[in-house]
Amino acid sequence: MITREAIRELAEYESPHGCALTFYYQPTAPKDQSHREEAIVLKDVVRGAMREAEKQGRNECARADLKRILEMADKIQKNGGRAKAIFADSSTGFWREFDLPAKLEGTKLIVNRRFHLKHMAPVLEWKPRVMACLVDRSRARLFRYENDTVEEVVGFHHELPRLGESDGFLGYDAGHNERHVAEAAKQHYKAVADALRKMYERDAWESLAVGCREETWPEFEGVMHRYLRENLLGRFRIDPVAANGDAVRDGIRKLLREQETMRRDDLVREVIGEAHRNGRGAIGLRRVLRSLQNGEVQTLLIGDRFDAPGTQCGHCRHVDLKMSAICAACGQKTVEMDDIADAIIGNALKNSIGVVYVKGDVKLEKAGNIAALLRFRADQNTAVRQAS
Ligand SMILES: [Zn+2]
Repeated sequence: MITREAIRELAEYESPHGCALTFYYQPTAPKDQSHREEAIVLKDVVRGAMREAEKQGRNECARADLKRILEMADKIQKNGGRAKAIFADSSTGFWREFDLPAKLEGTKLIVNRRFHLKHMAPVLEWKPRVMACLVDRSRARLFRYENDTVEEVVGFHHELPRLGESDGFLGYDAGHNERHVAEAAKQHYKAVADALRKMYERDAWESLAVGCREETWPEFEGVMHRYLRENLLGRFRIDPVAANGDAVRDGIRKLLREQETMRRDDLVREVIGEAHRNGRGAIGLRRVLRSLQNGEVQTLLIGDRFDAPGTQCGHCRHVDLKMSAICAACGQKTVEMDDIADAIIGNALKNSIGVVYVKGDVKLEKAGNIAALLRFRADQNTAVRQAS
């Protein structure tokens, strides 16, 4: 996985000779077990980039890195279904590679002055460490989920008293027996919930997913500690005994997707609402750039179809819509860019601003495909208001 520190390093990197190579590999759905199709796609992408680099006269500096990627093609594809990102610059000996969850937009290769980070946005967001608890009346299995892989960590088995064992004579007492079993089940649920609470206190997980049969849920929910309820990602239906890791992972993925969609919808709605109320929201590129410049931004929302030309200052990194050769912030020379998205994301990450990638949201698209939730607004600062 890629850390924020690593992202920052990449965002700040600038190739002296325009040889910064960014390579993203996104595996396709494994329809074809032989991977032959993917092998062709990957090699095509690399060769296409070689031709492109040649045309732009960057052949020399990109060739060594491209060759190295071609040689790695096999390894890259047999990477357990994970995506890969490589950032390289052979002119300075820079090389970083990362395994990523397979959530990238596609396989891409770009050679330029800066590394391209926009395509990585879907994996940049924080993901909670999830503990999945598969539970029934006598058993429980715990699975840890991180970076899209699951691992079964521990199992519980609390023997239930067998029906008929203590029936006694003269029919004493079927009802008593059932209560006895129910009580034993409850003790089992409590022991499991207690173990989960202790693990939470030890910081072994951040989000809880419960996998069970429909009838188990009310019984287990009844004994859940506050920590468990407050950090409940959700529950999914599963056979707790027969289920394998893949089924657990699918269940967790689905819950995470639902949560993300909800969180994003809420955030987009909040930012647009705030902007219309003249509050803690900025929408549209012009406003967002101003807010970034003023240090107001808490979270940057960027739509998947955002694309805008502009300039960036080579000295202070100021990003501008205007195609001016002189930086509006510091007066130094600027560089023209076809798409300023990477420069904006890079600046945001450098300043520890949260970046949220929003896919196919009509409301955000109408707002210019870029928006920001603000910590404050400089123009509503009392001192500024009084001065103006
Ligand atoms: Zn500047």
